Amino acid sequence: MEQRNAAECLEMILRKVSPKASEVFQGQLRHTTKCKSKKHIINEETNPFWTLPLSLKDTDGTLYDVESSFQRTFQKEDLKGNNVYCKECQKKTDATKECEMVEDPQILTLLLKRFDFDYNTTSIVKSDCFVKVPRELQTKKKTYSLYGVVDHMGSLSGGHYTATILSDEDQNWYEFDDDRVRKAQEPPNSSQTAYLLMYRGRITDI
Ligand SMILES: [Zn+2]
Repeated sequence: MEQRNAAECLEMILRKVSPKASEVFQGQLRHTTKCKSKKHIINEETNPFWTLPLSLKDTDGTLYDVESSFQRTFQKEDLKGNNVYCKECQKKTDATKECEMVEDPQILTLLLKRFDFDYNTTSIVKSDCFVKVPRELQTKKKTYSLYGVVDHMGSLSGGHYTATILSDEDQNWYEFDDDRVRKAQEPPNSSQTAYLLMYRGRITDI
């Protein structure tokens, strides 16, 4: 009877199922820091992920655009300040950081960080901001189609989760609400409750 976060719950399940099953959800991200002038690699790390978190903080309070936020994750960024040491240049230098999806998962799960730390109030707050939910997402290798949405209704201390899933068998959407399952409308294009977005990938034809 404990309240759990749906994203933590998903990770808990993926840790317990067979590696082969959890692999379906797993991608790899490579973070690279380079010196700006000579493009020497200062630091490079590749890590697996099951969910890709998107901060809702870079919204201006109006409609949050999931697609552009997703694409922004992979844009090269300048690190501010001349404070990264490059071994090859042998000095502190301006640097850039970059994130690349080096392995695209079969199932891509986006985590909208509705529960986030607020530095002003030094506490975790829940955001009910509207997000624009894209039906498709594009990476370099794959096209992803939305097939599942986990919604959270309520506050930080208590609330309720439902899941809306596109059936592979009859191509209808179904809402799963505790022990009730019913036919549902396609999830709305903009949502105040969407928390996890799940996409099925297919290799893009070139
Ligand atoms: Zn350098």
